[in-house]
Amino acid sequence: MDAIMLQEKLVERLLCPRVRTARQKEKQYVGFATLPNQVHRKSVKKGFDFTLMVAGESGMGKSTLVNSLFLTDLYKDRKLLNAEERINQTVEIIKHTVDIEEKGVKLKLTIVDTPGFGDAVNNNDWKPITDYIDQQFEQYFRDESGLNRKNIQDNRVHCCLYFIPPFGHGLRPVDVEFMKALHEKVNIIPLIAKADCLTPTEIKKLKDRIREEIDKFGIKVYQFPECDSDEDEEFKQLDKELKANWGQNNNPSLCVQECTPFAVIGSNTVVEARGQRVRGRLYPWGIVEVENQSHCDFVKLRNMLIRSHMHDLKDVTCDVHYENYRAQCIQEMTRFVSLCEKESDEEKSKLAQDNRMESPIPILPLSTPDADTEKLIKMKDEE
Ligand code: GDP
Repeated sequence: MDAIMLQEKLVERLLCPRVRTARQKEKQYVGFATLPNQVHRKSVKKGFDFTLMVAGESGMGKSTLVNSLFLTDLYKDRKLLNAEERINQTVEIIKHTVDIEEKGVKLKLTIVDTPGFGDAVNNNDWKPITDYIDQQFEQYFRDESGLNRKNIQDNRVHCCLYFIPPFGHGLRPVDVEFMKALHEKVNIIPLIAKADCLTPTEIKKLKDRIREEIDKFGIKVYQFPECDSDEDEEFKQLDKELKANWGQNNNPSLCVQECTPFAVIGSNTVVEARGQRVRGRLYPWGIVEVENQSHCDFVKLRNMLIRSHMHDLKDVTCDVHYENYRAQCIQEMTRFVSLCEKESDEEKSKLAQDNRMESPIPILPLSTPDADTEKLIKMKDEE
């Protein structure tokens, strides 16, 4: 027996060092390095979702830009209102959902449109919009505390593209008010609409002015995160383009990033330019190309929104905006419970106190279960 072991050891020693290290490596390999692949497979199978809100006066080019961004017609059934109808119209929230697929990756894209905003002379125009965002948070909060947490549909708004008209000298009071009403609830990305109306010098001037005002009024627009050194090369390149001249005072947190507000042009027509068919706007004096980086920031915006920062926008929504909403909710519920406790008689209050000791998380008031809920409870029991 000993002779056999000795022989094995001898063979091992005689084996070339390459084979030995390979064997050693194999021994050390447990297999958890495949975890990213497992997550990747599962996520691709499940598909992704993204909810984008667009806001700004009607006629600013919102639907044209959204269609240009996702190369799809999301506004097939849109009914345009006349002036009289627009005067009486209150802000509406309209959702368009489309399932898109690219290289086997499925994306459920929801566009939340806000027609009527900025059309009427009404100072509280944004109330239905903030209410909508809160309702989605509330729904998510309820679903999270409910029975069927596995299949929660996430309708939270991940990003709001805010269209600023190109004609003024900076932000209008309504722009400041709108962004301030929303900035704690959603990632705002300001855009200068119809940038083909301005010369490059005018665009630069307007951008500088808007950035100054965003700083001055303490508006929190979406901040691009710092790029990690281990990101892949494509991401690093996109990030570099976004942050070109980022913070001339070398303090990114103190200033709004150079590329915001993105100056954009939208078009759903394909025209011939420089011997190529491109998406653009044909004028008697020339062609404006949507995807030409020297004409506008459309490509930068699309890259940021879809290729490089979509996941971060979702993360910030979840970790910052939703978390704030949730904390507020829990605080209010706790306050409500303690108020109820105070009001009830001593015995009841003692009972409530005991219960609270057992369960420190406030219990959401539940309605009597309907047939669907009953079915779900049964299913869960069986599971
Ligand atoms: P919405 O009401 O904000 O959704 O605006 P639309 O997308 O319906 O666009 C209103 C009008 O503006 C249409 O005639 C568009 O062709 C035009 N339009 C859209 N985008 C641009 C743009 O970038 N530049 C210019 N000059 N016109 C645009």
